[in-house]
Amino acid sequence: MKGMTQSQMSKSRITAYGEFTRVRMEMAFPLRWENSYVLQGEDGWTVVDPGPRSPENEAAWDGALNELGIRATDISSIVLTHHHPDHYGLSGWLQQRSEAQVWMSKAASEAAWRNWGSAQQESGTNGFVEASIALCRLHGMEPERLAQLPAHLEGFLPQVDPQPEISVIEPGLPIRFGGRLWHPIETGGHAEGHLSFYEEATGVILCGDAVLPRISPNISYSPGGDEHPLRSYLNGLRTLGALKVTRAFPGHRDPFENFPERTVQLLEHHEQRLARMEELLQGGPRSAYEICISLFGDSLGIHQLRFALSETIAHLVELEDRGRATRHGEREVRFGLK
Ligand SMILES: [Zn+2]
Ligand SMILES: [Zn+2]
Repeated sequence: MKGMTQSQMSKSRITAYGEFTRVRMEMAFPLRWENSYVLQGEDGWTVVDPGPRSPENEAAWDGALNELGIRATDISSIVLTHHHPDHYGLSGWLQQRSEAQVWMSKAASEAAWRNWGSAQQESGTNGFVEASIALCRLHGMEPERLAQLPAHLEGFLPQVDPQPEISVIEPGLPIRFGGRLWHPIETGGHAEGHLSFYEEATGVILCGDAVLPRISPNISYSPGGDEHPLRSYLNGLRTLGALKVTRAFPGHRDPFENFPERTVQLLEHHEQRLARMEELLQGGPRSAYEICISLFGDSLGIHQLRFALSETIAHLVELEDRGRATRHGEREVRFGLK
């Protein structure tokens, strides 16, 4: 960014949508950007999903707050849709500067602890990394790819350090922030305890990664987590699709208006994917990894490969739940047609 001042750089990150201000935070390919939202309320400012921690994003927040005329201590709450590093990451850092309360669901805070907290236990071993490797091995990942997993998974830890102190959002109870009354709606499948925040009076929703425009949110079969994540995700789409949403503010890409229609498209996408997987099983039992390579090719980097495999497992489990596939083997799992 030669020749640009800090303020010009941060300017390109800020977009105002009425009373909603979006600040974009940089993250890894293919998503590239995460959306944070800044809202003013009676008791101060709220930041929704501050983004993944990196020196660039810390500088970006300094620049953005400066430009918006907000002091860190004016921030009274940090609200998190879910525990993924691209949303949760900077919440501890921002809490230290602002002394704001950090709000998330109980299930999301437990998932955060399982994924990021266990690495900091005194044993020095990271249970989440070990369990992730075991899961990928069980589902047929090649040894060369398995060997890439520890560095890949440990690479997330600096993005979520320090961990915030969490205040739990009570399920079903409305929560007030940013001068509005929001209904938290918990849906699973993408991340345990994911919350969307819906304002009934206006039909506005802050939907995190539960529904995204143009991209299908990753369905995550993760160690120690939901064992039927696609089932949870599809149920969540039906719940969210029934709301009278007029405008959605997602965790990635731009705000959009066709939210109910988008939930229907995503439901259809997953039915098509299930049918395609069933076809791929016609030649005989195959591991989730083999199915994953057939669907997504073998040139994915380890980051995308892990997401693709996790999503493939989620679909195969759903086929099994629907009585359309069956599982063979214990030490190396394969799926076949029923
Ligand atoms: Zn996410
Ligand atoms: Zn995300």
